[in-house]
Amino acid sequence: MSRPELVVAQLRERELDALLVTDLVNVRWLTGFTGSSAAVVVAADGKHRFITDFRYLTQSAEEVDAAFAREITQNLLEQAAKGLPSDGALRLGFDDHKLPVRDHGRLEGFVRDGVGLVAAGGLVEDLRARKDAGELDKIRRAAKLADDALEDVLARGVVGRTEREVALDLEFTMRKLGAEGASFEPIVAAGAHGALPHAKPRDVPIPPGTLLVVDWGATLEGYASDCTRTFATGELDPRDAEIYELVLTAQEAALQAVEPGPTGKEVDAVARQIIDAAGHGEHFGHGLGHGVGLEVHEGPRLSKQGETALTSGMVVTVEPGVYVPGGVGVRIEDLVYVSEDGHEVLSTLPKALRTVG
Ligand code: ZN
Ligand code: ZN
Repeated sequence: MSRPELVVAQLRERELDALLVTDLVNVRWLTGFTGSSAAVVVAADGKHRFITDFRYLTQSAEEVDAAFAREITQNLLEQAAKGLPSDGALRLGFDDHKLPVRDHGRLEGFVRDGVGLVAAGGLVEDLRARKDAGELDKIRRAAKLADDALEDVLARGVVGRTEREVALDLEFTMRKLGAEGASFEPIVAAGAHGALPHAKPRDVPIPPGTLLVVDWGATLEGYASDCTRTFATGELDPRDAEIYELVLTAQEAALQAVEPGPTGKEVDAVARQIIDAAGHGEHFGHGLGHGVGLEVHEGPRLSKQGETALTSGMVVTVEPGVYVPGGVGVRIEDLVYVSEDGHEVLSTLPKALRTVG
């Protein structure tokens, strides 16, 4: 089924006549349009519409899937409402998760009597969670490019350079290798700074003899990758090496649980039980992972709140961590494709503790 057809199947299930799509990532997934102003109406009767403004006349002609009739206007929401069938009762789904309250109010003003607005946030996102072969290929290449870039950076040496220098080098190298950019600002965090899960790179030289967390990803043809490795920068305190081995054990156990069937919560619990049993439960303060695609953080969630069952086609991360306040932090993250009968790891770098200079 094409992407609009997948949406139509959902509309039928929810007894909706049409869906107004306003989130630009969802618009891109549905139509191929990469510009910054657009709305889409997917109709159960197959008369799909794409609406943009004058600036995107040419770009939309080149990018937008032929399944959508194009309309050019200055007021997207008004145009979306005006183009709806002019009589009969009609149920129009809209994105209650992301449409600003102000726009919702305007939309209510634009639609005629008989059109009911129905909350349908998450409908497209749920479909986006399952990747097709083309999407998987882009994510796989983004992951490989990011891994190659890190190897380049490590070959230039990291000890003695600042965290910020290494992070910038990594971003630059990914661009040089063909990425559109970093999929998020890389984390390069040594020693106690690595104990902050979202550490910002500092103007502080990376010292020898500690752990170094690097969390990075590339964007390629719109698709993101996401990976974390933790390195030793010389001989380690045995307690730090022990934490590394604990996180690696938890990561590999959770990885083995990735297949169609279990919920995100169940896979999260596999890693959490191992870390809990070692007495570090309170030091694993985030979810196990998340979906990756057009956005670096998307559904499904692999966490205590993850109720969605894994299905084939999903691309998720598996990234347990242990962060000892004032001590060190370790996180190991792989990007994983959920296949028909198990999983395939898209990250290519080895995970045995590696010492870098
Ligand atoms: Zn990451
Ligand atoms: Zn991640």
